[in-house]
Amino acid sequence: MTTTTTKQYLNYINGEWITSSSKETYEVTNPANVEEVIGEFPLSTESDVEKAVNDAHNAFQEWRKVPASERASYIYRFIELLDENRERLGEALCKEQGKPLKEAISEATRGVNEMRFVAGEAVRLDGQTLPSDRRGVLAMSTRVPIGVVAAVTPWNFPVLTPLRKIVPALVAGCTAVLKPATDTPLTSVILMELFEKAGLPQGTVNMVIGKGRKVGDTLVSNPLVKGVSFTGSTQVGRSIYETASKNFTKVQLELGGKNPGVVAEYSDLKDAANQIVGAAYTNAGQRCTSISRVVVLDKHADELEKHIVENVKEFKVGNGLDSETTIGPVVSENALNELLEYMDIAKQEGAQILLGGRRLTGGIYDKGYYFEPTVINNVTQDMRIAKEEIFGPVLIILRVSSFEEAVEVCNNTEYGLTASIFTDKMEWGYAFMEDVESGMIHVNNGTNSEGHMPFGGVKNSGVGPYSIGGTNKDFYTDLKVSYIQHNK
Ligand code: NAP
Ligand code: MG
Repeated sequence: MTTTTTKQYLNYINGEWITSSSKETYEVTNPANVEEVIGEFPLSTESDVEKAVNDAHNAFQEWRKVPASERASYIYRFIELLDENRERLGEALCKEQGKPLKEAISEATRGVNEMRFVAGEAVRLDGQTLPSDRRGVLAMSTRVPIGVVAAVTPWNFPVLTPLRKIVPALVAGCTAVLKPATDTPLTSVILMELFEKAGLPQGTVNMVIGKGRKVGDTLVSNPLVKGVSFTGSTQVGRSIYETASKNFTKVQLELGGKNPGVVAEYSDLKDAANQIVGAAYTNAGQRCTSISRVVVLDKHADELEKHIVENVKEFKVGNGLDSETTIGPVVSENALNELLEYMDIAKQEGAQILLGGRRLTGGIYDKGYYFEPTVINNVTQDMRIAKEEIFGPVLIILRVSSFEEAVEVCNNTEYGLTASIFTDKMEWGYAFMEDVESGMIHVNNGTNSEGHMPFGGVKNSGVGPYSIGGTNKDFYTDLKVSYIQHNK
């Protein structure tokens, strides 16, 4: 008989791996097979958070003075290590979160590519000089790092999201404390190992693992934290915004979405279906930028629906480590139950489940959280399933009679993250760009964003400077305006 001991993981604070002061831990299991325990992780306390923030604050006093190009060279070293560890990260990600291995490795690859752009931002932290009103005066603005940044991240992109917050913080001269999602802490542990290996000075990067309500909330309310970069649900985002406002702490909130994909006068409906399905079901639909509502002109609807269903039937749901798998399990039992609830709501509201809609059972399916890729039609815009974010492999189809009605349907939601249109009429493409309330617009393509472009949402999808692209520096730095009388 073999006995296996569960591996214990620790917090990373001030360059040391330490247990939580509570000594309490929790287990993370693989959503593809809950019998597989990934590891035991600390359930951290308020005092762990306080220590991490104090240490990050102390480290900031030195780090902010390190020349920008030198800060970048630490990051270049880190990126080399990230590149070497893509497969290891991908495997850990697949096991703790469920996405297919190939998708998981590409998430890490994406991280490498994006961080190269971010590292270069160090030497593009620009200010302005303007002619002074006075003789002998130089009037200028410079950027200064804000201080300690809290990074609070979700489980759906557990490699990319921490990178997108910690690396720009370091590059700008800030220090960081990461609180990863409870469901997916292992990839964050690996990232910390790589920061340590890259030789980042102690205290510049820290990680405290534990529950959002305790660790997350304590972090956000700490007055030494000068910025909170959060990605997650609109509900938690709202509570973070409230808490942060008490100390006038800056926020960068990236929240939920109910992203439409419009099809109107587009000759290649098969292509539209292909692109919509790709954008809807990647990562089992657990992306804030997933297309989740198809809005289609009546006259195309039957044919488009047929192509969508054919396409969705091709998916192979399974363990992400199996090379055949194209859709993994959803992340947790809660996530699965929420999906099942939405299926009941859909039926009660009179919608029709065209495909899927159930938990998968039998064989390996009984050991994980597997949900059938689902397509729902007969949906009207007043239904809950048309308005609320359903975070999973579920696509709903709304029929409209005109382009104007399509725009109205797109805007009839609290969210405004991304929106796509497939059309051969470029005047509609432009009108869509102008009239749809959304942070990001895609004409004739799905919802893929690029790693050097700003990323963010409007309405209840986000607030604060957009992340990822050059706009990040507006979050991680404050402006300092100086007048220097150099001559009388
Ligand atoms: P979530 O429940 O909002 O959690 C996100 C993070 O916040 C987790 O680390 C969570 O910790 C923590 N948290 C929970 N309560 C908190 C509190 N009171 N104070 C501070 N932190 C707290 O979101 P999720 O379920 O992980 O992720 C799914 C959501 O994220 C979806 O709505 C999706 O649309 C959104 N999302 C948005 C984007 C975007 O860029 N706009 C990208 C990805 C995902 P625990 O894990 O311990 O709960
Ligand atoms: Mg949650």
